[in-house]
Amino acid sequence: MARKRVTSGMRPTGSIHLGNLLGALNNWVRLQEEYDCFYFIVDWHALTTPGGGGAVGYENVGDLTANVHEMAIDWLSAGLDPEKCSIFVQSHVPEVAELHLIFSMITPLGWLERNPTYKDMVQGYKIENPSLGLLGYPTLQAADILAYKGDFVPVGKDQEAHVNMTRDLGQRFNSLFGRNVFPITKALLTEVPKVPGLDGVDKKMSKSSGNYIATNLSAEDTVKKIRTMFTDPVKIRKDDPGHPDGCVVYAFHGIYNKSELEPIRSECEKGTRGCVDCKMQLAEKMNAALEPIREKRAGLEADPNLVREILGAGADKAAAIAKETMREVREVMNIPTRENV
Ligand code: ADP
Repeated sequence: MARKRVTSGMRPTGSIHLGNLLGALNNWVRLQEEYDCFYFIVDWHALTTPGGGGAVGYENVGDLTANVHEMAIDWLSAGLDPEKCSIFVQSHVPEVAELHLIFSMITPLGWLERNPTYKDMVQGYKIENPSLGLLGYPTLQAADILAYKGDFVPVGKDQEAHVNMTRDLGQRFNSLFGRNVFPITKALLTEVPKVPGLDGVDKKMSKSSGNYIATNLSAEDTVKKIRTMFTDPVKIRKDDPGHPDGCVVYAFHGIYNKSELEPIRSECEKGTRGCVDCKMQLAEKMNAALEPIREKRAGLEADPNLVREILGAGADKAAAIAKETMREVREVMNIPTRENV
Protein backbone atom coordinates (compact mmCIF):
# COMPACT_ATOMS: atom_id res chain seq x y z
CA MET A 1 0.00 0.00 0.00
CA ALA A 2 1.22 3.51 -0.82
CA ARG A 3 2.49 5.44 2.15
CA LYS A 4 0.39 8.39 3.30
CA ARG A 5 1.75 11.79 2.34
CA VAL A 6 3.02 14.33 4.82
CA THR A 7 3.59 17.91 3.68
CA SER A 8 5.17 20.78 5.54
CA GLY A 9 7.09 23.96 4.86
CA MET A 10 9.22 26.55 6.61
CA ARG A 11 9.87 30.18 5.72
CA PRO A 12 13.46 30.99 4.78
CA THR A 13 13.94 33.96 7.06
CA GLY A 14 17.61 33.36 7.85
CA SER A 15 19.31 30.78 10.02
CA ILE A 16 17.10 28.41 11.98
CA HIS A 17 17.27 28.12 15.76
CA LEU A 18 16.87 25.47 18.45
CA GLY A 19 13.10 26.07 18.54
CA ASN A 20 12.83 25.15 14.86
CA LEU A 21 15.15 22.17 15.31
CA LEU A 22 13.55 20.68 18.43
CA GLY A 23 10.00 21.80 17.69
CA ALA A 24 9.80 20.93 14.00
CA LEU A 25 12.83 19.47 12.20
CA ASN A 26 13.54 16.60 14.57
CA ASN A 27 9.94 15.53 14.13
CA TRP A 28 10.23 15.78 10.33
CA VAL A 29 13.29 13.54 10.50
CA ARG A 30 11.26 10.91 12.37
CA LEU A 31 8.32 11.18 9.97
CA GLN A 32 10.44 10.50 6.88
CA GLU A 33 10.79 6.89 8.08
CA GLU A 34 7.07 6.26 8.05
CA TYR A 35 5.48 8.58 5.49
CA ASP A 36 6.03 9.87 1.96
CA CYS A 37 7.21 13.32 3.04
CA PHE A 38 7.29 16.55 1.05
CA TYR A 39 9.25 19.31 2.76
CA PHE A 40 9.44 22.65 1.02
CA ILE A 41 11.22 25.91 1.68
CA VAL A 42 8.43 28.43 1.28
CA ASP A 43 10.12 31.38 -0.40
CA TRP A 44 6.83 32.90 -1.57
CA HIS A 45 5.54 32.88 1.99
CA ALA A 46 8.67 34.75 3.06
CA LEU A 47 7.38 37.64 0.94
CA THR A 48 4.20 38.00 3.00
CA THR A 49 5.77 39.43 6.14
CA PRO A 50 8.19 42.30 6.38
CA GLY A 51 11.70 41.47 7.49
CA GLY A 52 11.96 44.84 9.17
CA GLY A 53 8.73 46.76 9.57
CA GLY A 54 7.68 47.24 5.95
CA ALA A 55 4.25 48.61 5.19
CA VAL A 56 3.15 46.05 2.63
CA GLY A 57 5.21 42.94 3.14
CA TYR A 58 7.89 42.18 0.62
CA GLU A 59 10.46 44.73 1.71
CA ASN A 60 13.54 43.78 3.70
CA VAL A 61 13.23 40.04 3.24
CA GLY A 62 16.99 39.97 3.01
CA ASP A 63 18.85 37.86 0.49
CA LEU A 64 16.11 35.38 -0.36
CA THR A 65 18.29 33.17 -2.55
CA ALA A 66 21.03 32.91 0.07
CA ASN A 67 18.46 32.24 2.79
CA VAL A 68 16.88 29.43 0.79
CA HIS A 69 20.26 27.79 0.22
CA GLU A 70 21.08 28.19 3.91
CA MET A 71 17.79 26.59 4.93
CA ALA A 72 18.44 23.60 2.69
CA ILE A 73 21.76 23.15 4.50
CA ASP A 74 19.99 23.52 7.86
CA TRP A 75 17.51 20.80 6.95
CA LEU A 76 20.01 18.36 5.52
CA SER A 77 22.44 18.77 8.37
CA ALA A 78 19.61 18.16 10.86
CA GLY A 79 19.07 14.75 9.28
CA LEU A 80 16.51 15.09 6.48
CA ASP A 81 17.56 12.50 3.95
CA PRO A 82 16.85 13.15 0.26
CA GLU A 83 16.72 9.38 -0.27
CA LYS A 84 13.77 9.19 2.10
CA CYS A 85 11.87 12.44 1.53
CA SER A 86 11.48 15.20 -1.08
CA ILE A 87 13.16 18.48 -0.21
CA PHE A 88 12.58 21.40 -2.56
CA VAL A 89 11.87 25.09 -3.01
CA GLN A 90 8.21 26.14 -3.13
CA SER A 91 8.64 28.45 -6.13
CA HIS A 92 10.33 25.71 -8.17
CA VAL A 93 6.90 24.18 -8.62
CA PRO A 94 4.92 26.97 -10.32
CA GLU A 95 1.80 24.76 -10.48
CA VAL A 96 1.36 25.69 -6.82
CA ALA A 97 0.86 29.32 -7.87
CA GLU A 98 -1.73 28.25 -10.41
CA LEU A 99 -3.57 26.24 -7.77
CA HIS A 100 -3.42 29.23 -5.45
CA LEU A 101 -5.10 31.30 -8.15
CA ILE A 102 -7.83 28.70 -8.61
CA PHE A 103 -8.35 28.41 -4.84
CA SER A 104 -8.56 32.19 -4.55
CA MET A 105 -11.75 31.97 -6.62
CA ILE A 106 -13.43 29.72 -4.07
CA THR A 107 -12.01 31.11 -0.81
CA PRO A 108 -14.63 33.21 0.98
CA LEU A 109 -13.05 36.48 2.12
CA GLY A 110 -14.67 36.03 5.53
CA TRP A 111 -12.54 32.93 6.18
CA LEU A 112 -9.41 34.96 5.64
CA GLU A 113 -10.51 38.02 7.57
CA ARG A 114 -11.42 35.90 10.59
CA ASN A 115 -8.04 34.16 10.60
CA PRO A 116 -6.45 35.04 13.98
CA THR A 117 -2.91 34.59 12.65
CA TYR A 118 -3.53 37.31 10.09
CA LYS A 119 -4.59 39.72 12.82
CA ASP A 120 -1.57 38.76 14.94
CA MET A 121 0.77 39.35 12.00
CA VAL A 122 -0.70 42.76 11.22
CA GLN A 123 -0.46 43.82 14.86
CA GLY A 124 2.84 42.10 15.62
CA TYR A 125 4.67 43.55 12.64
CA LYS A 126 2.71 46.85 12.83
CA ILE A 127 1.71 46.58 9.17
CA GLU A 128 -0.25 49.64 8.09
CA ASN A 129 -1.30 48.43 4.65
CA PRO A 130 -1.54 44.65 4.69
CA SER A 131 -1.14 43.08 1.26
CA LEU A 132 -3.48 40.74 -0.56
CA GLY A 133 -0.68 38.17 -0.29
CA LEU A 134 -0.63 38.34 3.51
CA LEU A 135 -4.42 38.12 3.78
CA GLY A 136 -4.43 35.20 1.36
CA TYR A 137 -1.54 33.20 2.79
CA PRO A 138 -3.84 30.41 4.07
CA THR A 139 -5.00 29.94 0.47
CA LEU A 140 -1.38 29.62 -0.65
CA GLN A 141 -0.77 27.22 2.20
CA ALA A 142 -3.72 25.10 1.01
CA ALA A 143 -2.21 25.08 -2.49
CA ASP A 144 1.18 24.05 -1.05
CA ILE A 145 -0.39 21.05 0.64
CA LEU A 146 -3.06 20.05 -1.86
CA ALA A 147 -0.89 20.30 -4.99
CA TYR A 148 0.72 17.15 -3.55
CA LYS A 149 -2.57 15.81 -2.14
CA GLY A 150 -1.13 15.89 1.37
CA ASP A 151 -2.90 13.57 3.80
CA PHE A 152 -1.22 14.96 6.88
CA VAL A 153 0.42 18.14 8.08
CA PRO A 154 2.52 17.82 11.25
CA VAL A 155 1.49 20.61 13.62
CA GLY A 156 0.92 21.32 17.28
CA LYS A 157 -2.60 21.64 18.69
CA ASP A 158 -2.40 25.44 18.46
CA GLN A 159 -1.94 25.29 14.68
CA GLU A 160 -4.69 22.81 13.95
CA ALA A 161 -6.98 25.58 12.66
CA HIS A 162 -4.58 26.28 9.75
CA VAL A 163 -4.81 22.70 8.61
CA ASN A 164 -8.58 22.78 8.94
CA MET A 165 -8.72 25.70 6.50
CA THR A 166 -6.81 23.59 3.96
CA ARG A 167 -9.12 20.64 4.56
CA ASP A 168 -12.19 22.88 4.15
CA LEU A 169 -10.90 24.42 0.93
CA GLY A 170 -10.15 21.02 -0.56
CA GLN A 171 -13.57 19.72 0.40
CA ARG A 172 -15.24 22.86 -0.91
CA PHE A 173 -13.48 22.34 -4.23
CA ASN A 174 -14.53 18.69 -4.35
CA SER A 175 -18.18 19.49 -3.68
CA LEU A 176 -18.31 22.48 -6.06
CA PHE A 177 -16.87 20.53 -8.97
CA GLY A 178 -18.30 17.12 -8.15
CA ARG A 179 -15.18 14.99 -7.94
CA ASN A 180 -12.93 14.03 -5.05
CA VAL A 181 -9.74 15.51 -6.44
CA PHE A 182 -8.39 16.35 -2.98
CA PRO A 183 -8.03 14.15 0.11
CA ILE A 184 -9.35 15.14 3.52
CA THR A 185 -6.16 16.68 4.90
CA LYS A 186 -5.66 16.21 8.62
CA ALA A 187 -3.37 17.61 11.26
CA LEU A 188 -0.81 15.06 12.41
CA LEU A 189 -0.77 16.16 16.03
CA THR A 190 2.63 15.59 17.51
CA GLU A 191 4.04 16.26 20.94
CA VAL A 192 7.05 18.49 20.44
CA PRO A 193 8.80 20.56 23.08
CA LYS A 194 7.99 24.27 23.30
CA VAL A 195 11.48 25.69 23.36
CA PRO A 196 11.83 28.72 25.64
CA GLY A 197 13.68 31.87 24.67
CA LEU A 198 16.99 32.82 26.27
CA ASP A 199 15.10 35.59 28.09
CA GLY A 200 12.62 33.51 30.10
CA VAL A 201 10.83 30.18 30.46
CA ASP A 202 7.52 31.89 29.69
CA LYS A 203 8.89 33.28 26.40
CA LYS A 204 8.99 31.32 23.14
CA MET A 205 12.30 31.13 21.33
CA SER A 206 11.68 32.98 18.07
CA LYS A 207 13.45 34.77 15.29
CA SER A 208 11.51 37.97 15.72
CA SER A 209 12.22 38.22 19.47
CA GLY A 210 15.97 37.78 18.97
CA ASN A 211 16.07 35.40 21.96
CA TYR A 212 17.41 32.41 20.08
CA ILE A 213 20.41 30.15 19.56
CA ALA A 214 20.97 29.57 15.85
CA THR A 215 21.97 26.03 14.92
CA ASN A 216 24.77 27.32 12.70
CA LEU A 217 26.74 28.88 15.57
CA SER A 218 30.17 27.56 16.48
CA ALA A 219 30.57 25.72 19.78
CA GLU A 220 32.17 28.86 21.27
CA ASP A 221 29.36 31.16 20.17
CA THR A 222 26.83 28.68 21.52
CA VAL A 223 28.53 28.93 24.93
CA LYS A 224 28.30 32.72 24.72
CA LYS A 225 24.55 32.47 24.14
CA ILE A 226 24.14 30.05 27.04
CA ARG A 227 25.91 32.55 29.31
CA THR A 228 23.13 35.07 28.56
CA MET A 229 20.32 32.69 29.60
CA PHE A 230 17.88 34.03 32.16
CA THR A 231 18.30 32.37 35.57
CA ASP A 232 16.58 32.76 38.92
CA PRO A 233 16.86 36.51 39.70
CA VAL A 234 16.79 35.98 43.48
CA LYS A 235 19.71 33.54 43.38
CA ILE A 236 22.54 36.03 43.54
CA ARG A 237 25.32 34.13 45.31
CA LYS A 238 26.32 30.59 44.44
CA ASP A 239 25.02 29.26 47.79
CA ASP A 240 21.61 31.01 47.61
CA PRO A 241 18.82 28.46 47.18
CA GLY A 242 17.43 28.64 43.63
CA HIS A 243 14.08 28.08 41.88
CA PRO A 244 14.70 25.82 38.87
CA ASP A 245 11.16 26.08 37.50
CA GLY A 246 11.68 29.69 36.47
CA CYS A 247 15.18 29.13 35.06
CA VAL A 248 15.94 28.83 31.35
CA VAL A 249 19.14 26.86 32.00
CA TYR A 250 17.16 24.26 33.93
CA ALA A 251 14.59 24.07 31.11
CA PHE A 252 17.38 23.29 28.62
CA HIS A 253 18.89 20.68 30.96
CA GLY A 254 15.45 19.09 30.62
CA ILE A 255 16.04 18.83 26.88
CA TYR A 256 19.75 18.07 26.61
CA ASN A 257 20.56 16.51 29.96
CA LYS A 258 17.47 14.62 31.08
CA SER A 259 19.31 11.96 33.08
CA GLU A 260 20.83 14.51 35.47
CA LEU A 261 17.74 16.62 35.93
CA GLU A 262 16.85 15.43 39.45
CA PRO A 263 20.25 16.06 41.07
CA ILE A 264 20.44 19.43 39.30
CA ARG A 265 17.10 20.43 40.78
CA SER A 266 17.94 19.37 44.31
CA GLU A 267 21.44 20.94 44.25
CA CYS A 268 19.99 24.19 42.90
CA GLU A 269 17.24 24.26 45.54
CA LYS A 270 19.72 23.47 48.33
CA GLY A 271 22.12 26.16 47.19
CA THR A 272 24.99 23.80 46.40
CA ARG A 273 25.06 24.54 42.65
CA GLY A 274 26.11 27.81 41.08
CA CYS A 275 24.53 29.20 37.91
CA VAL A 276 27.84 29.57 36.07
CA ASP A 277 28.79 25.92 36.57
CA CYS A 278 25.28 24.88 35.70
CA LYS A 279 25.52 26.81 32.42
CA MET A 280 28.89 25.28 31.56
CA GLN A 281 27.56 21.79 32.18
CA LEU A 282 24.63 22.53 29.86
CA ALA A 283 26.99 23.95 27.23
CA GLU A 284 28.91 20.70 27.17
CA LYS A 285 25.78 18.62 26.64
CA MET A 286 24.25 20.95 24.08
CA ASN A 287 27.46 21.23 22.07
CA ALA A 288 27.86 17.45 22.06
CA ALA A 289 24.34 17.12 20.62
CA LEU A 290 24.95 19.80 18.01
CA GLU A 291 28.36 18.56 16.91
CA PRO A 292 27.13 15.99 14.33
CA ILE A 293 24.93 18.72 12.80
CA ARG A 294 27.92 21.06 12.55
CA GLU A 295 29.98 18.36 10.86
CA LYS A 296 27.33 17.70 8.24
CA ARG A 297 26.92 21.44 7.72
CA ALA A 298 30.61 21.89 7.02
CA GLY A 299 30.46 19.18 4.34
CA LEU A 300 27.43 20.75 2.66
CA GLU A 301 28.86 24.27 2.80
CA ALA A 302 31.85 22.96 0.90
CA ASP A 303 29.63 21.50 -1.81
CA PRO A 304 26.93 23.98 -2.89
CA ASN A 305 26.30 22.02 -6.09
CA LEU A 306 25.27 18.98 -4.10
CA VAL A 307 22.66 21.11 -2.29
CA ARG A 308 21.38 22.40 -5.65
CA GLU A 309 21.17 18.88 -7.04
CA ILE A 310 19.16 17.69 -4.05
CA LEU A 311 16.74 20.62 -4.36
CA GLY A 312 16.47 20.05 -8.11
CA ALA A 313 15.67 16.36 -7.76
CA GLY A 314 13.12 17.14 -5.03
CA ALA A 315 11.44 19.75 -7.24
CA ASP A 316 11.28 17.31 -10.18
CA LYS A 317 9.53 14.71 -8.07
CA ALA A 318 7.12 17.25 -6.56
CA ALA A 319 6.40 18.91 -9.92
CA ALA A 320 5.41 15.60 -11.53
CA ILE A 321 2.72 15.18 -8.86
CA ALA A 322 1.61 18.84 -8.96
CA LYS A 323 1.31 18.73 -12.76
CA GLU A 324 -1.00 15.74 -12.53
CA THR A 325 -3.07 17.44 -9.83
CA MET A 326 -3.44 20.54 -12.02
CA ARG A 327 -4.45 18.44 -15.00
CA GLU A 328 -7.30 17.01 -12.92
CA VAL A 329 -8.22 20.43 -11.54
CA ARG A 330 -8.46 21.96 -15.03
CA GLU A 331 -10.44 19.01 -16.26
CA VAL A 332 -13.11 19.08 -13.55
CA MET A 333 -13.40 22.86 -13.88
CA ASN A 334 -13.71 22.64 -17.66
CA ILE A 335 -10.77 24.98 -18.20
CA PRO A 336 -9.94 24.72 -21.92
CA THR A 337 -6.81 22.94 -22.99
CA ARG A 338 -4.99 23.69 -26.25
CA GLU A 339 -6.32 20.42 -27.60
CA ASN A 340 -9.99 20.72 -26.77
CA VAL A 341 -10.65 24.45 -27.08
P1 ADP B 1 10.10 31.79 14.06
O1 ADP B 1 9.01 32.07 15.09
O2 ADP B 1 11.45 31.77 14.66
O3 ADP B 1 9.99 32.69 12.85
P2 ADP B 1 8.64 29.87 12.56
O4 ADP B 1 7.36 30.48 13.03
O5 ADP B 1 9.06 30.10 11.14
O6 ADP B 1 9.81 30.31 13.54
O7 ADP B 1 8.56 28.32 12.87
C1 ADP B 1 9.04 27.28 12.05
C2 ADP B 1 8.75 25.97 12.77
O8 ADP B 1 9.47 25.88 14.00
C3 ADP B 1 7.28 25.79 13.16
O9 ADP B 1 6.92 24.44 12.97
C4 ADP B 1 7.24 26.14 14.62
O10 ADP B 1 6.19 25.48 15.31
C5 ADP B 1 8.60 25.68 15.10
N1 ADP B 1 9.05 26.53 16.21
C6 ADP B 1 9.44 27.82 16.13
N2 ADP B 1 9.80 28.29 17.32
C7 ADP B 1 9.62 27.27 18.22
C8 ADP B 1 9.84 27.12 19.63
N3 ADP B 1 10.31 28.12 20.37
N4 ADP B 1 9.54 25.93 20.20
C9 ADP B 1 9.07 24.90 19.45
N5 ADP B 1 8.87 24.97 18.13
C10 ADP B 1 9.14 26.13 17.51
